[in-house]
Amino acid sequence: MTQQKPQENMHGETCPFCNKAKLVLQQIEYVYEEPDSPKVSVPGVWVEHCTSCGESIFPAASSKYIEDFLAELDDQLSPRELIRIREDVGVDQGEMSEILGLGDKTYHRWEKGTQFPSRSMGFYIRILANHPETFQWLRDRCWRKSNRLANFFGSQEGAGSDFNTMFPDLARRSAGDTGGKTLKNPARGLMHVSFA
Ligand SMILES: [Zn+2]
Repeated sequence: MTQQKPQENMHGETCPFCNKAKLVLQQIEYVYEEPDSPKVSVPGVWVEHCTSCGESIFPAASSKYIEDFLAELDDQLSPRELIRIREDVGVDQGEMSEILGLGDKTYHRWEKGTQFPSRSMGFYIRILANHPETFQWLRDRCWRKSNRLANFFGSQEGAGSDFNTMFPDLARRSAGDTGGKTLKNPARGLMHVSFA
């Protein structure tokens, strides 16, 4: 990923620092340094460079590009964070993959650093990490409780329920009641439904 060439730039203008040479628009590798943090390299940043005094001017678009680039890096969940989050919720790597709806080994690979979660997956995991009740909701697949079919099979009362209660639309149709509509496939005569 590199920056698009800024539309507004000072290419060809005289350097305001030394007044000796003309500025040249070129791409550089910008290195961002902060105390106690590893250096971050931002490739392909457009600057107006003076070959005479060596000064570089950053167009507004380039400063914005660098800010966005660094912000995006901050959003990345590190393997260490991924381990901490999983340990906080108290599950192993396989369980975590299953709860999040991932492939068996995916969380394991993220923790090893051989693969990285996408940015949006990182956001999703952050929400879960900060809201234990939401994590539990996901883990229990709570949305399924409002699902008619799962309710039927999951509850004791469901066992006493019948076809007509579960599928009122279908039951009406098999009784020949189309609700006044002409159906292409009215499913008439559908008397036996097996869930084996
Ligand atoms: Zn200069």
